Amino acid sequence: MESDVDLPCPTCKNEGSLKLLSMSSEIPYFGEHTQITLSCEHCGMRQTDFIPSEERGALSFSLSIGKVEHLQARVVRGSSGTVRIPELDLEVSPGTQSTGYVSNVEGVVNRFIDIIRMMMRQIRTEIEDGNDEAEQNLAKLFQLEMALMALAKGELLGDLSLEILDPKGHSIIGHDDAVKKELSADEVDLLDPGPAPIIMSSEDVE
Ligand SMILES: [Zn+2]
Repeated sequence: MESDVDLPCPTCKNEGSLKLLSMSSEIPYFGEHTQITLSCEHCGMRQTDFIPSEERGALSFSLSIGKVEHLQARVVRGSSGTVRIPELDLEVSPGTQSTGYVSNVEGVVNRFIDIIRMMMRQIRTEIEDGNDEAEQNLAKLFQLEMALMALAKGELLGDLSLEILDPKGHSIIGHDDAVKKELSADEVDLLDPGPAPIIMSSEDVE
């Protein structure tokens, strides 16, 4: 269902260009939920979130990637989800422009690889500008890229894990081997809350 939103775009502040698309469906392990996509026809801003029909509170999921089949485990990342590969000290926190997605563990690993490649391009520019420290950073990123590429191919099994932490409970790793935990208030305080909610209650969307 698509509807117009009578609010200025949070990104470009243009009036009358926001659209809201909502769709209810069911995802294994995640359950019945409404997928909400807010988009702006003026600047191209697009933000997706997944609102479960039942409030779940702050949750984390952790999956030790020990089998090839774990790479295919479904991942739902809501716009407030922080994604980590703790053994490599990697973390993607939501930021203010974050959008949710549905993928699998392999897809999330590939997203980390894309970010690392982007950082490597940035650092190569710094090296060309004569920054010597950047050389060491580039070497570190190269090692991370190698490790993640091996992981995506089903190597390094048992060495690495994927974690997703969400103060709103809108994110999951859907696999029987994933460990689900409730986050304490202190743990939630340390997380980036993600973009400010514009329309975030499932009651508002019918
Ligand atoms: Zn806009």
